[in-house]
Amino acid sequence: MGYQDDSGDEPANSLGHIDLTRDQQLKTELAEFTFTPPEEGWDPDENVMRPPALSMADDVNPPIERVYGIDGSRVEVTVGDPLLNKRVGFLSIRLAEIDMQVVRQQQNQAFLNPSVVEDLGSVQEYNMVLPSSNTLFDAGSTHESWRKMVFRNFKRREAFGRTLFTTYHELLHRREDRIESGRGKLRLENCPNPDCDEESLIVNSTREDSCPECDKPTYPTDALRTHERVAGSQENVTALNLLMGIVEHLVLVNAVKHLDKQGRDALNRTAIVKDGPLAQFDTAAWIHDPILQILSEVQEAHMGDGGAPFVVSGIHKTGKFASFAESVKDRMAGPWLLELPNDVIYKHISAGDRTEPFGKKTYYGKNFIYRSATRTQDGHCFAFTVPRRFTDGHREGGLRVSEDAYPELARTVTVLDKLRTIRYENGLIPLVVAHDKASLPEELSDQILGKLTNLLTEAKE
Ligand SMILES: [Zn+2]
Repeated sequence: MGYQDDSGDEPANSLGHIDLTRDQQLKTELAEFTFTPPEEGWDPDENVMRPPALSMADDVNPPIERVYGIDGSRVEVTVGDPLLNKRVGFLSIRLAEIDMQVVRQQQNQAFLNPSVVEDLGSVQEYNMVLPSSNTLFDAGSTHESWRKMVFRNFKRREAFGRTLFTTYHELLHRREDRIESGRGKLRLENCPNPDCDEESLIVNSTREDSCPECDKPTYPTDALRTHERVAGSQENVTALNLLMGIVEHLVLVNAVKHLDKQGRDALNRTAIVKDGPLAQFDTAAWIHDPILQILSEVQEAHMGDGGAPFVVSGIHKTGKFASFAESVKDRMAGPWLLELPNDVIYKHISAGDRTEPFGKKTYYGKNFIYRSATRTQDGHCFAFTVPRRFTDGHREGGLRVSEDAYPELARTVTVLDKLRTIRYENGLIPLVVAHDKASLPEELSDQILGKLTNLLTEAKE
């Protein structure tokens, strides 16, 4: 039975029991659709798949002694009377520093005691609060409040002694299309004020400025356009997720710069793993490109100086690549490495435009799947990314697929494999430790953060 409201009319947003099969035009149009879901039945023989040259990874290079794990979580909390729908968003990005010596000591345990997890390393945290629905911060709308608070957070939060804004500003200045040459001013495609039609604004790239047309404030961080995902009266989980991804990347870049500053030994002996692929999506996708520039420059200089390949990896913990890894893991005995050329990704994992490299506008990581030797009953199989390389050094040259192009691959797989030997809730230990502290369970945070916010609100009244 279809739902009927008081007027007896069918609700506008429901197709209810209208008989669509009688609509001839609709039937004709439907017949023109083609469906392109990923295909099953991947054949291991159709791809290059071979054991990676792992045996040398630890013999010729200094061992990796510590791993930084980066993971974030976010939550929105209702403040006061739920009917008034006043909401505040919280972000927590954590960086766990794991001591590989402690990991080695735990390797022989069948299963890690949860009480030991906390002892595996220390955690640094970067927290933010954002105005969400029906909440203002020193501005006339949630939208503008959000923009102001993002800028303020970026200016105030530091990771490894460097503000998030300093790094963001560097990313901006590495993009010629965003910065006016000469004056160093920021070019915004549209005015961030949704009521203004002004296009191609030239504004200050380091501090608050204003739109020449509507006179509303602009902020350098408006170029990330996270505010376009903010609604004044609804939940803003999409905007929070987007901002969380960006901040994870800024923390990652700061960690890399910190290690680079410390010198060759620090890059030799530290690996960084991040939750999720090396990719930035949505309105802020453009930052993937300058991030890759920075990582490539650090790696090139480091290896040119005789350093061992520096390891930065993004792990597919969930999603299509993780599911695919799970589905193919028992096809043949490990160890093997799957290079995942574009055609395999498009055919079996994620449908898309086959004329372009997968994730051209979002990914700065190249996808691989690794299956460990079958030491234990099931072995490990995981999908991961390492920074992309192109045939002649720049993007137009085409993405390199073969493992030979990625000198850090053997070390990456070796360290991930070692971390996997600790069996704890099917997670990778640095991410478990980072997430354990980062996770803001919905119920808990509603209680704790809700109370906190209530207190703050009361204090103000
Ligand atoms: Zn304007």
